[in-house]
Amino acid sequence: MLILGIDTSCDDTGVAIVDSGQWILSNVIASQHAAHERFGGVVPVIAAREHTSKISFILESALSQAGKSFSDLDAVAVSHHQGLMLALVVGVSAAKSIALACDIPLIGIHHLEGHIYSNYIGRSDILKFPFLCLTVAGGHTLLLKVLSHGNYELLGHTRDDAAGEVLDKVARHLNLGVPGGAAIERLALNGNPSAYGFPRPLINRSDGEFSFSGLKTAVIAAIDRNPNLNQADLCASLQQAIVDLLVTKTMLIAERHNLHQITLAGGVALNQTLRNALQYAAQQRGYDFFTPQQDLCMDNGAMIATAAYYLYKERGADSLDIDTLANAPLGIMNIRYRHDSKYQ
Ligand code: ZN
Repeated sequence: MLILGIDTSCDDTGVAIVDSGQWILSNVIASQHAAHERFGGVVPVIAAREHTSKISFILESALSQAGKSFSDLDAVAVSHHQGLMLALVVGVSAAKSIALACDIPLIGIHHLEGHIYSNYIGRSDILKFPFLCLTVAGGHTLLLKVLSHGNYELLGHTRDDAAGEVLDKVARHLNLGVPGGAAIERLALNGNPSAYGFPRPLINRSDGEFSFSGLKTAVIAAIDRNPNLNQADLCASLQQAIVDLLVTKTMLIAERHNLHQITLAGGVALNQTLRNALQYAAQQRGYDFFTPQQDLCMDNGAMIATAAYYLYKERGADSLDIDTLANAPLGIMNIRYRHDSKYQ
């Protein structure tokens, strides 16, 4: 089953063609970093304008790289929940047009479902329900129990900033450019992770709740106190604090809920120190650990097409009047969800 997947939830225009949720025939991503850099963050109206100007070209590129035409497609899938409203609408409009013109099913996917299913590409036969997924990026930090296809239980989340948001804000304070997480990781390579004893909020609390705002405030205060500080040491210490928080809480929840398969997804999953630390912690406990290859951690259309392959079987196609929501809870809420946040 050939599915075209579209993601325009934030500042990457992603279009991919995936065969049966397993084989990526093309995965084209156009980054908007250059357009937003001088503003120090993603500007929604600029994101929408960039998506609008690029989407046709990216669609053609994805088809041509896959050696396919519109008439070969069996379905079109799109991120319609979670992200920047103005940006999401561009992808949803494109997907509706394709579904209508080609007379194929339209499948709406929650953007975070896409991140979860990025772990399915190439290993659908290995992952067994239920498993734990840590999704961590600039707009969200969540621990989800994946019960079955399309069924999730929220076991942990951040009460304030997302982990990736802290990395982005500190990078901006240090004028390191975008993407901030990658710049901090590069500097951290030559730094001492024990140089600064930054706080690890809620690390000893016995539940899945995260908090990163106190850490962010402490790091920014350290920068403001000493503009000539060793940036490599600061970045390494910040990175270590975030890794400690994410690994400790993930293992706590995995043990408590008896989940022996752990997956990592989202933009911060690109961080090699985090990947290594989770791998090591999982191995120590005899758990399996999976994370997507690096180009599938960032926002992309392949994860949307993959999720659509499995979820279409469960819940069928959507109608052409499918909605678009910037904030949409995902799964069964067994803890209070942060409705005012901007998960992406
Ligand atoms: Zn994302």
